[in-house]
Amino acid sequence: MQRRRVDVVVIGAGPAGSMAAAELAKRGLKVLLVDKRSQVGVPVRCAEGVGKVGLMRYFAIRPQWISAETDTVRLYAPNGDYLQLNQGMQGLILNRRVFDADLAKWAAEAGAQLCLQTYACGLLMDRGWVRGAQLQGPKGRLSVRAKLIIAADGVESRVARWAGVDTTLALKDVESCAQYLMGGLELDPPRCEFYFGRQVAPGGYAWIFPKGLSRANVGVGISGNYAGRRTAKEYLDDFVARVVPGGEKMGFVTGGVPVSRVLKKVYGPGLLIVGDAARQSNPLSGGGIIPALEAGRLAARVAVQALAEDDLSERSLCRYQKAWNQSLGQSYARHYRLKEAVTRLPDKTLNATARTLRATEPHRLTLFQIFMTALRNRPSLILDIRHLFRSREPD
Ligand SMILES: Cc1cc2nc3c(=O)[nH]c(=O)nc-3n(C[C@H](O)[C@H](O)[C@H](O)COP(=O)(O)OP(=O)(O)OC[C@H]3O[C@@H](n4cnc5c(N)ncnc54)[C@H](O)[C@@H]3O)c2cc1C
Repeated sequence: MQRRRVDVVVIGAGPAGSMAAAELAKRGLKVLLVDKRSQVGVPVRCAEGVGKVGLMRYFAIRPQWISAETDTVRLYAPNGDYLQLNQGMQGLILNRRVFDADLAKWAAEAGAQLCLQTYACGLLMDRGWVRGAQLQGPKGRLSVRAKLIIAADGVESRVARWAGVDTTLALKDVESCAQYLMGGLELDPPRCEFYFGRQVAPGGYAWIFPKGLSRANVGVGISGNYAGRRTAKEYLDDFVARVVPGGEKMGFVTGGVPVSRVLKKVYGPGLLIVGDAARQSNPLSGGGIIPALEAGRLAARVAVQALAEDDLSERSLCRYQKAWNQSLGQSYARHYRLKEAVTRLPDKTLNATARTLRATEPHRLTLFQIFMTALRNRPSLILDIRHLFRSREPD
């Protein structure tokens, strides 16, 4: 078995891992970025939607990252009525194959060593401390000692669990998703469409995100709590047959999206957990690209300081959890509570909300207004929300 020593091993070259690796390598640290895949970002398990303003906080956006751009969103009620929002808030549909590859390349150019086809199969532990990782690469087994491990291994994360962190997700806190890449569609003008209702996507929603004027990601995310025995693919096939029957199916993926609270602890001695692995996606929308970038950046900042102080203890690394809470964590805690209330709304409330707001001009309509109208249509929701807000400790 080969042996090596580095400052940091980052496990997973998704947005969270590549961001962390790039930021660390830029500071001159010796970083190993490993991913089990042979090509970064492939297969793409994502609808690829992201806010332009959010992304611009991290990068100058490159044209080759973008499949489509739109400022129009349609929300469909179960009865087919829809609300259109058009507030000049640009949404991008990325080409994640290119985007993820560029991020990993950026990390490599900053000095991180990128190892593909390299599977993390265990941790080197010493009296509760994470001291390194065991890797299985194309040339065999590798044992790497590191001062810090960053677990960026996505929703199915095992790394944090190996370190003793409880990463269990409740059934209601994970969306089971299925998605086709479809062609032969008419999407002029392109817009992002969301479809709600117990028949369409119980506990979640269906989406059509354009990837040009004729191609789109068409998917469904459902909550196991509400869906009974039917799978996400069965819901998706029904949806496709009803809404885009003429489209050509060009690809199919499934995947899970955490819509939970963030892990109670996103650090341990010698360990930081980032992105989907830490359950840091937005629990209301399921969007995880921006929070993964944010988590990767925050983790790297804390790691740089901790490594400079030569203190990788929990007392030192807990600064990452605080930084996360101050950044997106507190608002995502509120989003989680809203999600809990919103997923319980019956179809008739959604229909009534769409009916009430139908006449509002798209550029005046806001998500807040929609939510307040839903409250008026279902006053008991106020009690639900009060209960949810009261039953938890303050943020
Ligand atoms: C169907 C679907 C649609 C989605 N749509 C959107 C959307 O429109 N917008 C949005 O913002 N988010 C969306 N998401 C969520 C988004 O894809 C994730 O939140 C985001 O990719 C999280 O980034 P990450 O870096 O944490 O993890 P990932 O991108 O999952 O990266 C984790 C990496 O770790 C690697 N890995 C895992 N285990 C190991 C191991 N043991 N050893 C080595 N490597 C390992 C994997 O190969 C992978 O490359 C969607 C998710 C799904 C499933």
